[in-house]
Amino acid sequence: MIIPIVLYGSAVLRKQAEDVTEADLPKELAENLFATLKKAGGVGLAAPQIGLQKRAFVIDTSPYSEDDQSDVEKFEQVFINPEITWKSEEKIYQEEGCLSIPGIWEDVLRPEKIRVRYLDAEFNPVEEEFDGVKARIFQHEFDHLDGILFIDKINPLRRKFLTAKLNKIKSTIK
Ligand code: ZN
Repeated sequence: MIIPIVLYGSAVLRKQAEDVTEADLPKELAENLFATLKKAGGVGLAAPQIGLQKRAFVIDTSPYSEDDQSDVEKFEQVFINPEITWKSEEKIYQEEGCLSIPGIWEDVLRPEKIRVRYLDAEFNPVEEEFDGVKARIFQHEFDHLDGILFIDKINPLRRKFLTAKLNKIKSTIK
């Protein structure tokens, strides 16, 4: 089911999300996140962005892998109750955007590599190490579960410069 994406200014984007239990129907949650993400053409989507205060997100790199210029391999996964267990000392800047903050793209500094732990859609525990695009998207989506947005992590002067654009997005929410 495709669900309308919650925009910047909505309270749910600033709340601490809660652990997913089997009662939350994780498979259905994953399906809804994937369907909504595909429709929007993005590469990551977290449950708070569809109005659910739950610790889950999906990554789908197809928009990158369908681009001939890109060498990003196709990767599609749901992450339930994720944790970051290690972050590399090395940090890199990379441009980010967010489906909840349309029209804004900014460079964000984050660790280059991470080690993570999460449950898959069948509630099996998984441990993995990510770098590149996967590490980047994972950290952006993970922040959503703690009510953090990528614009919180940019230079305060840049953020000030974006105030009018952000207020415009905020003004469209009901
Ligand atoms: Zn986002």
